[in-house]
Amino acid sequence: MKKRSLIFLLPALVLFSCSDDPINENETETKSEISFENVEVAYPGKSGNVSDIYFAGKRLPVENIDGNLVYQGDIIFSKDMVTDQEQKLVYDKGETPSQQKSVGRTSSYWPDNIVYYAIDATLPDQTRVSDAIAHWESTTAVKFVQRSGEANYIYFTPGGGCSSYIGMIGGRQNITLASGCSTGNTIHEIGHAVGLWHEQSRVDRDSYITINFQNITSGAEHNFRTYEESGYDGSEFTSTLDFGSIMMYSSYSFSANGQPTIVKLDGSTYNAQRNGLSGGDVEGIFSMYPGETAGTTPPPTEPTPTTPEPTNPEPTYINGEYYTIAGLTVLRKKDSWFYKKDRGGWQEVVLIDGSWYFV
Ligand SMILES: [Zn+2]
Repeated sequence: MKKRSLIFLLPALVLFSCSDDPINENETETKSEISFENVEVAYPGKSGNVSDIYFAGKRLPVENIDGNLVYQGDIIFSKDMVTDQEQKLVYDKGETPSQQKSVGRTSSYWPDNIVYYAIDATLPDQTRVSDAIAHWESTTAVKFVQRSGEANYIYFTPGGGCSSYIGMIGGRQNITLASGCSTGNTIHEIGHAVGLWHEQSRVDRDSYITINFQNITSGAEHNFRTYEESGYDGSEFTSTLDFGSIMMYSSYSFSANGQPTIVKLDGSTYNAQRNGLSGGDVEGIFSMYPGETAGTTPPPTEPTPTTPEPTNPEPTYINGEYYTIAGLTVLRKKDSWFYKKDRGGWQEVVLIDGSWYFV
């Protein structure tokens, strides 16, 4: 279901038109044989004005490059997905919820686990795409079907870097692949397109890593904010940060001086990998797209009687874990719900008829 109620296009255009500055005019065209081993970027060597926009009800920093809104290097937002106006996710007691519902971080999955796609005929080395798709299909329950007229689909197309939108956005959505984008980078970008975010921005990342802000390229610091800081839902599909995730930045991403920007808590660096989905990735994707993995369908056997599943299983919530419910990321604590306001402390909230209220 598309929820496009966040359209404030006119103010957005005003907001972003000021970034049409001379920065890009001095750019020399980047040669395409760049490696994206450490981090995927949509526009290598380019930068733009950073501004705060609202997506899914909260604030996050995006960079305006060539008229596109770029988040954390390789994630693209279209202007009609965002607004410059704050959205409410939690209401005061007695307040009437507005009709306007914002898109949550965990929405916009592909229905029935089917992702439709097409490949630009001019895209070089298309085996990157077919190999990446084969990897996804052999490890997850997501299926990829060549488009034949479907409205919503991924379009693999050449570009200056590697980039993707997050989740199914409706209509055609590009995954751009420069010549230097590998099969692993393609697996990563498909991850975004089915709804995955970057691993190092988990809300609980400070329990696992230290960000060395002094080593980050000036102007790129916004790429290291957590979802909670940047205003995202912070729910995670796996319980711990996975250094092996294909969605994890490397220790040297956006480094200004060759020194690590992300280290483990003991100060050591780690190797990012772009070989394939990790076990943690597969686990997380399974909770988003449950089902059987293609190619591993068990041979038919005699049906065995099974206990029927309860039709409405009561969800169990674990204290100390984060959940995203009704578009809001909340922490379960003492069998109650808590929400962390922007730059504020935790406040108890309660869910009534699908809307959150401060207690
Ligand atoms: Zn990415």
